[in-house]
Amino acid sequence: MTAFPVEPAHDVADWMRAAFIDEEAPLLNEEHIHLRDARLGVLWCSLPNERQGNSVVGLCEEATFIGNRWAKARWEQQIGGWFGEIPDFLLTFDAGYADQCSDAAFCALVEHELLHAGQKKDKWGAPRFNSQTGRPVFGIRGHDVEEFVSVVARYGVGNAAGRTRALVEAANRPPIICEADIAGACGTCGRGLTKP
Ligand SMILES: [Zn+2]
Repeated sequence: MTAFPVEPAHDVADWMRAAFIDEEAPLLNEEHIHLRDARLGVLWCSLPNERQGNSVVGLCEEATFIGNRWAKARWEQQIGGWFGEIPDFLLTFDAGYADQCSDAAFCALVEHELLHAGQKKDKWGAPRFNSQTGRPVFGIRGHDVEEFVSVVARYGVGNAAGRTRALVEAANRPPIICEADIAGACGTCGRGLTKP
């Protein structure tokens, strides 16, 4: 059998719902609540990836394909074959990284990608829902903070971009989730950490 680098990770998808999204989730983050109605397709990839000199270990994309009819049909057959449907979001994780990183680092990575899986807002800032289906209108959400350390160092947090001040305040508080809690909640994800 040819070893292809990509493999669906259904158990990771189940685990991330149970850990962070579901009502009873032990590490529930209220910012993920709209994802209870989202179809999430998770993939492992064993190929290292990088962008602008930084290694990329996780990726969140809207599962939409733009291309000609046959290419789209091929893509839908592949994705649908993996997940039984076309997901709203595709989340890809570096299997090699997940294999060696700590539980806490993996949880942080997964939540980072889940936070990109956003819900669009209307012009008044209220979450948008599809008027026909009642489902949230999904879209990729950017980072809360996009700033250079140098700017904060030289001009202070008050002159930094976007929500930098909120980030600094959060950094100055003890983390809500401690390492010990994560080890317990991540027990099941060990099963998913086999390289394809
Ligand atoms: Zn990101």
